[in-house]
Amino acid sequence: MAVTRNMNPKKCPMPSQEPDVRNKNFDEVALGYTYDMAVNEAKRCLNCPTKPCRSACPVQIDIPAFIERVANEDMEGAYRVLTASSALPAVCGRVCPQENQCEGKCVRGIKGESVAIGRLERFVADWHREHVADHPQAPAPNGHKVAIIGAGPSGLTAAGDLAKLGYQVTIYEALHLAGGVLVYGIPEFRLPKAIVQKEIDGLKAMGVDIETNMVIGKVLTIDELFEMGYEAVYVASGAGLPRFMGIPGESLKGVYSANEYLTRINLMKAYRADSKTPIRHSGKVAVVGGGNVAMDAARWAKRLGAEEVFIVYRRGMEELPARREEVEHAEEEGIIFKTLTNPVEVLGNENGEVCGMRCVEMELGEPDASGRRRPIVKEGSEFVLDVDTMIMSIGTSPNPLIRHTTPGLETNRHGCIVTNGEDGLTSREGVYAGGDAVTGAATVILAMGAGKHAAKAIDEYIMEMANVGGAQAKPQTAAALKETVEAETVRR
Ligand SMILES: Cc1cc2nc3c(=O)[nH]c(=O)nc-3n(C[C@H](O)[C@H](O)[C@H](O)COP(=O)(O)OP(=O)(O)OC[C@H]3O[C@@H](n4cnc5c(N)ncnc54)[C@H](O)[C@@H]3O)c2cc1C
Ligand code: SF4
Repeated sequence: MAVTRNMNPKKCPMPSQEPDVRNKNFDEVALGYTYDMAVNEAKRCLNCPTKPCRSACPVQIDIPAFIERVANEDMEGAYRVLTASSALPAVCGRVCPQENQCEGKCVRGIKGESVAIGRLERFVADWHREHVADHPQAPAPNGHKVAIIGAGPSGLTAAGDLAKLGYQVTIYEALHLAGGVLVYGIPEFRLPKAIVQKEIDGLKAMGVDIETNMVIGKVLTIDELFEMGYEAVYVASGAGLPRFMGIPGESLKGVYSANEYLTRINLMKAYRADSKTPIRHSGKVAVVGGGNVAMDAARWAKRLGAEEVFIVYRRGMEELPARREEVEHAEEEGIIFKTLTNPVEVLGNENGEVCGMRCVEMELGEPDASGRRRPIVKEGSEFVLDVDTMIMSIGTSPNPLIRHTTPGLETNRHGCIVTNGEDGLTSREGVYAGGDAVTGAATVILAMGAGKHAAKAIDEYIMEMANVGGAQAKPQTAAALKETVEAETVRR
């Protein structure tokens, strides 16, 4: 149906809780578009034939097609377009950095604001969840088994795609709950956990087995998984190992890594009055770092009742790596930005607890190898910031457990698993990897994209092995299949 375009240069604002209300509760900050808002916003899309938004989407969602359906009030049709490319639209609509991806390339952004693609994606996914009862069925089994390590967005996406093809998929997850960073890192007030759980329940209904409290590398090794009959393994174990600065005082009581702080709150529910998980109820908190993780930790500290929360970052406001929207939300909620500042020592009292942070002021010099201006210490600028808690949020890397227990698995100097590119094949036969475990800390959508590519490559690999072994051949372990392939090759 022809759509009357809405030529308003501005996107429809997102209804949100007031800053002074939301910084005292744990509910979602953004409330989502109403039906009418979504339809009107969708009418701002020009349905460009060249679709620059689509090519900027890491999973190539047909964006104009789903938006056109919203404009025509065909919400279920829009949902089907979304889910043809993305397994987690309700998640991506909330946390994807659209401003650097689809919305960054939107033609409407040239003379005004881009179409609110992310907000529309969220609306469609929420509409579907509230109005349509899904009954996912387990597809007919194809007789082959795949193991996945890690139940974050990458592992879950790969599991879904393989299960649809009939594979018997088992996800081994180290924590007691599936979801990866979506449950232990990203706060409830940005991504309600019920939404993630719904996606996981859908996978289980399709027959995916999720074994929690299973640390691969400790309980079982990758070699043992092959011995158990899995024909391929997808490693999606993320990058959960926190970095520290190596400055004096980092082992004082009251110093957390952002990962530990967020895990205690999000996964272990330390924010609830009835929770048994201990968490420091701080007065003044310094969060060191400027990414999304730092914003999440700072905003949680405020919600837990801290009177002052500082973001301490060594470059300027312009250089903050966090999403602009998250920075704005943090500012509105009263987080204080101490930019061009770097800690040099954590100070402790007689009880071994944090009682301050010695800092230096910085200025920006010439661009460094990363293209960003290098922060340089200002001579004689030392000062003490009065804080009782310090949260380190300066990055993470993959945990070394899997690389230490998997002979022949190549990793780079950052500890990331090396793969052949898009397929995710590692230096080990039948072992694939993707998501943060390969790229280092990145984004949900990139991790999902890697899971999709790996699922396709794993399917091709197993089918090729099975065909070489004979169409009726019983599935074998990858090692046995490899021997069969080699024997076939010699015979030819
Ligand atoms: C606080 C925070 C906020 C973020 N905000 C955003 C955002 O707004 N937008 C965005 O796009 N991205 C954001 N990110 C990044 C994003 O969440 C990650 O890039 C993404 O989750 C990576 O997915 P993954 O599946 O590769 O790994 P993960 O989500 O880390 O999942 C890996 C899983 O593997 C498990 N695991 C690890 N080792 C083992 C083992 N040996 N055996 C078994 N299981 C194991 C872990 O417990 C975990 O559940 C954020 C990250 C954090 C920490
Ligand atoms: S670039 Fe913007 S206006 Fe063009 S199709 Fe994509 S969302 Fe619509």
